[in-house]
Amino acid sequence: MDNIRTKTVAANWKMNTSLEEAEKLMDQILTGLPDLSKCNVIIAPPFTHLPMLKMKTKGTPVHTCAQNCHQEISGAFTGEVSVEMLKSLGIEYVIVGHSERRQLFHETNEVIKLKVNAVLGSGLIPIFCCGEPLDIRQSETHNIYVRTQLEESLFHLDAEVIEKIYIAYEPIWAIGTGVTASPEQAQEMHNYIRDQIAVRYDKVVSELTRILYGGSIKADNARLLFSQEDVDGGLVGGASLNAASFIDIVNSAC
Ligand code: PEP
Repeated sequence: MDNIRTKTVAANWKMNTSLEEAEKLMDQILTGLPDLSKCNVIIAPPFTHLPMLKMKTKGTPVHTCAQNCHQEISGAFTGEVSVEMLKSLGIEYVIVGHSERRQLFHETNEVIKLKVNAVLGSGLIPIFCCGEPLDIRQSETHNIYVRTQLEESLFHLDAEVIEKIYIAYEPIWAIGTGVTASPEQAQEMHNYIRDQIAVRYDKVVSELTRILYGGSIKADNARLLFSQEDVDGGLVGGASLNAASFIDIVNSAC
């Protein structure tokens, strides 16, 4: 199973970098990355930089990812980008349901389910984000909250599909705040998510499903987080905008 749940580090650049800055950052990352035969690296730049990223990563093991997509294939959706458009660029992954999309763009579990379907329908792989806000953590209802996100957006999928996707557990109180979930908190939730998959599907499927942690991962906390049994790597925001710190984080996983 180990080789299948290879550790993965995914970078989410969010709405940062000019094209020139992105090219420089990508050159630095590609120069500094370790041997990736034992781990995966995925980079999600803004949409406008995807063609550049695709060119730069050609012939390398680095994977390309979009930060979002629309749930429809085409049509009158001004300003939106479809999965088929991403596919035509050769993009492999799409982040779906990031908490910033949920909170700032009002994406519901139902919409996210449609996006998951669209991504899979075009043959790309979703990185499905879930995670609770601070008040839910404080009221100790975070397990039920995350379970509902899984049930309403993912658990309609067949077993052979669910094992292909990535789940990223990203507690909202840890995203961009500098507050990281402790390794124990991350492990506890990842184990809970894996248990829910085992209940809905079976143990084999749950052991195959990759679950990343996201929320203020830094070079100095990555190794401990990634060493947790059910943490299969990370989704990195802020620290992925600096080549040296991102490479350090990748080194913790490889
Ligand atoms: C994210 O946005 O997915 C994220 C984890 O951000 P940060 O690492 O900056 O907390």
